[in-house]
Amino acid sequence: IFITFEGGEGVGKSTQIRRLADRLRRAGYDVLVTREPGGSPGAEAVRHVLLSGAAETFGVRMEAILFAAARNDHVEEVIRPALETGAVVLCDRFVDSSRVYQGVTGNLEPGFIEALQRIATDGVMPDLTFILDLPAEAGLARARRRGGSDAPDRFEKEEVDTHEKRRQAYLDIAAAEPRRCRVINAGRPEDEIAEEIFKLVEAATEA
Ligand code: C5P
Repeated sequence: IFITFEGGEGVGKSTQIRRLADRLRRAGYDVLVTREPGGSPGAEAVRHVLLSGAAETFGVRMEAILFAAARNDHVEEVIRPALETGAVVLCDRFVDSSRVYQGVTGNLEPGFIEALQRIATDGVMPDLTFILDLPAEAGLARARRRGGSDAPDRFEKEEVDTHEKRRQAYLDIAAAEPRRCRVINAGRPEDEIAEEIFKLVEAATEA
């Protein structure tokens, strides 16, 4: 089963992925945790470029194509092989991040983004996607507090209204694809969120 986690900056994706992975492993599942952009050696190299100052000179189409190139490598080298062994794959960001970041706030036409996603995923789509939802102000504040090497990157310097636009874009995806997507209120205590996510995964694996 392939599960992705989506949402804006600082919504708690990595914490929840770690907690879900621990719990699934204790329950006897073979779990692979990975992330985008990155997740394979080739894609990590592209991530380095995308999150660096050099990327500020890239047009949004070039940026979207690079994200897609990284995703294709990640899918072919890591995600598909893991799924074929029967592992549970947990991925921090996937196609919905491209739809939201490059598509909606990058103003790229949906047709361009969707064509790239077809090439990038080559048919490997998440069975389940958790959209961690939090008002932009709260997420940004958390992302800033987090500090360290993880933050802030160039994307996190953007304005709150851009984040609010992304939040709405994620909610629109969830509404359009209710079978795949679950919106999680990320403003609650960590334990409560972890419990809800675990229950939803259990339900999905039993189905
Ligand atoms: O996972 P994390 O939130 O650290 O993502 C790294 C950065 O890459 C984020 O700041 C996000 O804004 C950006 N990103 C993007 N387009 C994607 C995926 C991530 O702009 N498709």
